[in-house]
Amino acid sequence: MLVDAHNRTIRDLRISLTDRCNFRCFYCLPHGEPSWAKKEKLLTFEELEYIAAIFVSLGIEKIRLTGGEPLIRRDVPVLVEKLSRLKPSLTDIALTTNGYDFARHAEALKNAGLDRVTFSLDSLRPERFREITGVDGLDRVLDSIGIAHRLGFRPIKVNAVIVRGRNDDEVVDFARFAIDHDLSFRFIEYMPLDSGHDWSRDMVVSGREIRDAIDKEIPLTLKNTSRGSSTSWKYRFADGLPGEIGIIAPVTEMFCGACSRIRLTADGQIRTCLFSTEEHDLRGVLRSGASTAKIVEFIKAAVLKKEPSHRINDPDFVQPERTMSFIGG
Ligand code: SAM
Ligand code: SF4
Repeated sequence: MLVDAHNRTIRDLRISLTDRCNFRCFYCLPHGEPSWAKKEKLLTFEELEYIAAIFVSLGIEKIRLTGGEPLIRRDVPVLVEKLSRLKPSLTDIALTTNGYDFARHAEALKNAGLDRVTFSLDSLRPERFREITGVDGLDRVLDSIGIAHRLGFRPIKVNAVIVRGRNDDEVVDFARFAIDHDLSFRFIEYMPLDSGHDWSRDMVVSGREIRDAIDKEIPLTLKNTSRGSSTSWKYRFADGLPGEIGIIAPVTEMFCGACSRIRLTADGQIRTCLFSTEEHDLRGVLRSGASTAKIVEFIKAAVLKKEPSHRINDPDFVQPERTMSFIGG
């Protein structure tokens, strides 16, 4: 078991497959060409399979593949197939994607054993979608969501980062979209993880504000009375309509006390928190030819250093150097 110094059991591993992305969401990546990790630094699928097996032997139950845009990496279904061999100890393999390339991999991913998919979608208006992501791709993302539905991925989650003045006028439209497509639509508060370091508190639309705006138009009923290790408050639509919404409010309603997550960056660094300022070089240990026992020791030591909480709301908060796309959101 992986237990940290604050008695939290770590059960979820997020693996970033690449720091690269075909989008340039303004709250995540800079415009232009960022300095990507060199290819030889990325963990290979064989390395990931080996490390994932160790993590699962230590009690990891869920693995989420993310990035950057994970589907930029070639042959992701091959990796999913390798990870599937870790079931049933591994209970869940999920993917977070911007959806642009999902359609052409969807069937192979399903056949390889992918259990769940989460899409990111920050606007339902084509022009605004382009402004936010830098890509004219709304239709492709909507198609991908439809395909995920048809292939039987359930639940399908869709994430939107709500930023004041950019897309906060769409929250009710997003809720209607959740009803029309029977989705779990999750609203995420904007976090200081943008490459431009432009984040400011007044750009954050609080979870409460989002919930109230929806509730006014479409009454909501709270589904979970505690968040447990989940990051979101879940609501169903009071009139028995399909779909649900989730509110993820890391800035205004911190949930670190129940965090069960750990992250592995594409270049093989363990990050114990999104907001860590320290990383643990698992790639270095692995490539030094260390034994499995040494790797286990290294992972356990890293977990013991997991931060008690993020410090976004502290006056001396320092934004981590690496942004979401590099950390693996
Ligand atoms: N490229 C994939 C995607 O966009 O779904 C996976 C990686 S992305 C970094 C994972 C999630 O992080 C996305 O849902 C994205 O909206 C979210 N994200 C990125 N930057 C963020 C920020 N500054 N605040 C809150 N969420 C952020
Ligand atoms: Fe790419 Fe996802 Fe970051 Fe957008 S949020 S730039 S899609 S990694």
